[in-house]
Amino acid sequence: MDTRTFYAALPSMDRLISSTECAPLATRHGRHALTQCARAQLDAARAHIAAHAALPDWASSQAKLAARIADKLEARQHMALRPAFNLTGTVLHTNLGRAIQAEVAVEAVTAAMRGAVTLEYDLDGAGRGHRDTAISELLRELTGAEAACVVNNNASAVLITLSAMAAGREVIVSRGELVEIGGAFRIPDVMRQAGCRLLEVGATNRTHLRDYESAISNDSALLMKVHTSNYSIEGFSKSVSEAELAPLAHARGVPLVTDLGAGALIDLSAYGLPAEPMPQTMLAAGADIVTFSGDKLLGGPQAGLIVGKKAWIDRIQAHPLKRALRCDKLTLAALEATLRLYLEPDLLAQKLPTLRLLTRPQSQMREQGARLLAPLQAIAGAGFEVKLEDCASQIGSGSLPIDRLPSVALTFSPRDGKGGTLLELANTWRALPQPLIGRISEGRLWLDLRCLEDEAGFIANFCA
Ligand SMILES: *Cc1c(COP(=O)(O)O)cnc(C)c1O
Repeated sequence: MDTRTFYAALPSMDRLISSTECAPLATRHGRHALTQCARAQLDAARAHIAAHAALPDWASSQAKLAARIADKLEARQHMALRPAFNLTGTVLHTNLGRAIQAEVAVEAVTAAMRGAVTLEYDLDGAGRGHRDTAISELLRELTGAEAACVVNNNASAVLITLSAMAAGREVIVSRGELVEIGGAFRIPDVMRQAGCRLLEVGATNRTHLRDYESAISNDSALLMKVHTSNYSIEGFSKSVSEAELAPLAHARGVPLVTDLGAGALIDLSAYGLPAEPMPQTMLAAGADIVTFSGDKLLGGPQAGLIVGKKAWIDRIQAHPLKRALRCDKLTLAALEATLRLYLEPDLLAQKLPTLRLLTRPQSQMREQGARLLAPLQAIAGAGFEVKLEDCASQIGSGSLPIDRLPSVALTFSPRDGKGGTLLELANTWRALPQPLIGRISEGRLWLDLRCLEDEAGFIANFCA
């Protein structure tokens, strides 16, 4: 058949977009998007005819063409950022958004999004307030700090702290603490960015108090401790604690700054978890400034918290970078709601998802696994052997790298023993409406149940 017949079979743009099939699309998506999409599909149909001398099936009638346009317009509205099931076994998974927010934080953010808020508005004096005031007061109460300040994340907390306290001068750090947090965040690079000169002391595995002592000079702006959050140096090793370092720093008139990273605000060992250094302990030990993340063990939104001596915090608040790194109302709303939970610590393990997940009893996960075993065997099919296994989950986000929490997983082994079959299963589940992310290890797919709270939604997701 002559290709001209195929071209002629395509409707004109005008006819297509004013057709009864397309009219509702104009209402739903607007005329601009409809026209743009219809044009692209007609072009694609013509290109198909030119290449294959045939009309594509999807353009073989006006109804089919309209259905395709509807699908394309719908697909363009699918969010790339969407809820997922984190069954990786890493509770604070940076690639999956770290801490899950508490319900009170979700409500506070929603309310803050919908309307005006008292962000920089002092209700008592009706003057201009400061956006960090509420958080700062909460952090003072919770950590005993003189003052506090909030920025976008802990990386920016370190950057602004160094910029405000030590630009153009020397910062003394142990060689064992020149960490890379991930991506481009390496302590030596941040120092350079802040305009400081790094003075390394000690050796990779051992640094002594005398190393700091002999390094301090008139040019020293501060002593810095960096919590080695994502690795551990074991064996013949020595580092100098804040408690040991503070008297030296203060005797020589140099402030001590600690980048704590994860920074738990409560004693995790009281919950049977591995102990993690707390900002309040560091302040009590004599650190002048402590920085930590909002979305690691604290369980709040992405933020960088700076606590410590008022004179230094004032200087950080006044630094020009503060404006560039300040938090928006959504972050501040979530953070304030999260911090208020810490005022009622007895309820924390129930209301703060991070702590609730970290303290989930293994027995509860075993019961859940037993309930899910048969439905998941049916979903995975006869090609897989499904088992319930004890396993170990991680806290994640650089916290407590060597500690593991006893957990339970459903594991899927392909009966044909082929890695390809396993990858296919993992890919299929990653492509679900709410992507399901597990972990492949030892020729099996592991779904660690620690973070599975929405069991009904989890099952329904397979049938969607
Ligand atoms: C995680 C971490 C950072 C970076 O914190 P973000 O909140 O991810 O920006 C910096 N220092 C240490 C020691 C960390 O553990």
